[in-house]
Amino acid sequence: MASGETAAYTDLDMVREGLPGTPYGEGVKIIKPPMASPVRSSEGMLVCNPNDSTEWGIFVNEDASPERRRFTIAHELGHFVLHRAKRRTFNCDKAAVHLSLESAGLIEREADDFASNLLMPGDVLRERITSQDIDLHLLSGLAKSFGVSFEALCIRFIKYTDKRAILLHWDNGFLKYEWRSRSAVLSNARIRRLSDPVEPLRDTVAADPSIAQEWTGIEMSAAVWCVGEQPSIKLQEFKHSYGVRDRVLTLLLLESDPPRSWDRSWQDEEVSDSFDQLGSRGNLSQ
Ligand SMILES: [Zn+2]
Repeated sequence: MASGETAAYTDLDMVREGLPGTPYGEGVKIIKPPMASPVRSSEGMLVCNPNDSTEWGIFVNEDASPERRRFTIAHELGHFVLHRAKRRTFNCDKAAVHLSLESAGLIEREADDFASNLLMPGDVLRERITSQDIDLHLLSGLAKSFGVSFEALCIRFIKYTDKRAILLHWDNGFLKYEWRSRSAVLSNARIRRLSDPVEPLRDTVAADPSIAQEWTGIEMSAAVWCVGEQPSIKLQEFKHSYGVRDRVLTLLLLESDPPRSWDRSWQDEEVSDSFDQLGSRGNLSQ
């Protein structure tokens, strides 16, 4: 491992052991090393010893991959730092811990943000994704150097990239989750939804069962995937399939949107003036 990559890796044992000695761990003597969770449905738990409030412990789903266990522990450390004054027990399921969904409760999103920041520091990530062409080889390598799952890294990438990017998670052929980058939201980039639940669109890599992995990306017109994109706008489609349960990730990277003409912005009722200005500004920086 190159020294630059080692520097990206956060030592969670050191963080856990060190916290009680800092202002973030005031009044606490120890956070015990993670143990296997006794609750099947639980991805992770943070609990206070009912007989001794200076002792806290973390439980983690032992069936999860090492990367996921690591993220879960960081998430529980987030509850410890941010929320332990409010509660003595935190019981977190898989969706709460790993997916950073807008629909999750506020404290779950806060704990997720804490975990993401701890494991994938924003300045390190930004430095590594701005200087290079993005493909799944790069993102997979970054996930390894941070010690996080590929999906966690992709979700983090979506939050940090200034490109127009859409990440889709398919489960048994149907769309289960979707994340869009800020500039994708501001430029109103969104996929065409022809069915409910949503299935991959024709002529896409996602719909082609003969392609399990497409890590370097295939270029096509953005209009193949998205509503309202001009035919000249290109996108790159990437695909990663997991071995089990037909789980697939699709990453779409769209070219920046050209400034919309006045005519068009008047016709498009979904584009407000402020969105239009922000979209054009994003475009100028490309
Ligand atoms: Zn939680």
